[in-house]
Amino acid sequence: MALYLKTPDEIAIMREAGRIVARAHAAMKEALRPGISTGELDKIAETVIRDYGAVPAFLNYPKPNAPSYPATINASINNELVHGIPSNDRIIQEGDIVSLDTGCIYQEFIGDSAYTYAVGEVSPAIQRLIKVTEESLRIGIEASVMPNSIKDVALMIQRYVESQGYSVAREYTGHGVGRSMHEEPEMPNWWSRIAERRGRKNHPLQVGMTYAIEPMVIAGRADLMELDDQWTVVTKDGSLCAHFEHTIAITDGKPIILTLP
Ligand code: MG
Ligand code: MG
Repeated sequence: MALYLKTPDEIAIMREAGRIVARAHAAMKEALRPGISTGELDKIAETVIRDYGAVPAFLNYPKPNAPSYPATINASINNELVHGIPSNDRIIQEGDIVSLDTGCIYQEFIGDSAYTYAVGEVSPAIQRLIKVTEESLRIGIEASVMPNSIKDVALMIQRYVESQGYSVAREYTGHGVGRSMHEEPEMPNWWSRIAERRGRKNHPLQVGMTYAIEPMVIAGRADLMELDDQWTVVTKDGSLCAHFEHTIAITDGKPIILTLP
């Protein structure tokens, strides 16, 4: 599949989609406290997205041989890496770290971003995991300039995260974003010759590319498994993990972060 390069007009619409996602995140951040359920956070995000004339992008997202995704957000707590399904029974506790990921479709274009928060008091080690993950996203965005390639961006993220003593998730990657939530190119947070040999494609960055960078960083080993709900991905050894994501557009200068307020 060819890369779908967006026109400036399309990028302007994507910026609006991203702004709506940012507003949903702001509302969830304000509500996040011990005692709230992830189901309540989901409702808050859905309300904001619909109030701005957009549609939740994750809701009913299909997955082969599994039920479609049933909610507006992913709420992944502690050793849940990504795709935690929100529920009114899942109550956030003091000391949890919570990754919230959401996306919307606005005028046929998508925005997608994620943040990880510490709820109440957490140890300096957990604060550091969150800070390093956020910094790895910043590094990935800063590296998203021509004439760099996807491989350059991936290696910058990987080297930084590993230099801090953490692992990057390998089975899950960032992705092109546009009229579909997942389009070309794949945006991994790591690179290897083996992956290349198995068909992973490098691409030079080009003006008009729009993609989500989303490093998923794990304090321990990077082995993952999926829970019986067929969505929630957890670390096998119970290690804590964090996840930050922005959707960006490549220009001939600095990238535009589309999912800022
Ligand atoms: Mg996301
Ligand atoms: Mg994404």
